[in-house]
Amino acid sequence: MSRFWSDIVHRLTPYVPGEQSAMAHPIKLNTNENPFPPSPLVVKAIRRELGDTGETLRKYPDPTARALCETVAAHHGLRIEQVFAGNGSDEVLAHVFQALLKHDKPIRFPDVTYSFYPVYAQLYGVAFEAIPLNAEFGIDIDDYRADGGAVLFPNPNAPTGRALSLAEIEALLKANPDSPVVIDEAYVDFGAESAVKLIDTYPNLLVVQTLSKARSLAGMRVGFAFGNAALIEALTRVKDSFNSYPLDRLAQAAGIAAYEDDAWFRESCAKVIASRDRLTSELQILGFEVVPSAANFVFARHPAHDAATLSASLREREIFVRHFKLPRIDQHLRISIGTDAECDALIGALRGLIVS
Ligand SMILES: *Cc1c(COP(=O)(O)O)cnc(C)c1O
Repeated sequence: MSRFWSDIVHRLTPYVPGEQSAMAHPIKLNTNENPFPPSPLVVKAIRRELGDTGETLRKYPDPTARALCETVAAHHGLRIEQVFAGNGSDEVLAHVFQALLKHDKPIRFPDVTYSFYPVYAQLYGVAFEAIPLNAEFGIDIDDYRADGGAVLFPNPNAPTGRALSLAEIEALLKANPDSPVVIDEAYVDFGAESAVKLIDTYPNLLVVQTLSKARSLAGMRVGFAFGNAALIEALTRVKDSFNSYPLDRLAQAAGIAAYEDDAWFRESCAKVIASRDRLTSELQILGFEVVPSAANFVFARHPAHDAATLSASLREREIFVRHFKLPRIDQHLRISIGTDAECDALIGALRGLIVS
């Protein structure tokens, strides 16, 4: 604390990201990174952009990331005015709070959801209402029908992994024509249907995506928003009042290449899904209750073992999973899907802790 701090800083409760371990070979199943590397085309594109001398780095990158936005627009069948690129989808979400969610009515998101949302709400002074998930940790769209404020949630939801169908998302959009509806699709490629195809029909829909999860580029920081041109213009106005160059040259080159290798992307998602199904059954054999997941993580609790204790014991064995000390979910662990070898190591360690 310091008397030099702005007033707001005293009141902030910052988001705490999952631990990035300094251990030599940790088994990292705590931040939903992809266990498989990005496409070799991505590495080539970064090398090409860098050149032998790094000459290109002398100059600022394209402030609009136009070539990247064109690639992504073509991929989704959108027009370039319907695409916004930012430094990771966290930054995109921050702009969304400021540009589109700050109105008189409190915004609505689930009580159990991405824990960055309340942090942005606090930073930007956006009031919110947390709507309880149902007993199975699902989002019930009937709870969002009243004449309320903007709606925001991940689909599939995090940290639960449960997904809504496209029909349910469409019903939600129909019920809320006068409020922005923001669908955070960080995990959509692992088992849910994207709402991008509804953008031309619903001017209140904004879809947020990232290259961090399914495209294995968490280290590059590339995220997007897709929506009606007027919504995108709002984000651009905020971005150009904040940082003109959110995406560096290497990130723009890497992002384009990531979309050019669709086969790599599909195979990587298929491997994660197969590994998730395998991990789910092995956890169930050990007595865990596992929430059905459409994401690259599972959310599980053991009826006879405290989640915080399990997480701490795994950490001693250099295996990292995520535990949230939050209401309703403090007995759950969120476990990112690793390679089969990493999942085997986790199951082996858990067996030792649970069966002994
Ligand atoms: C990982 C994640 C993000 C952030 O992704 P970045 O693009 O890496 O900033 C956004 N929303 C949800 C729900 C996530 O899990």
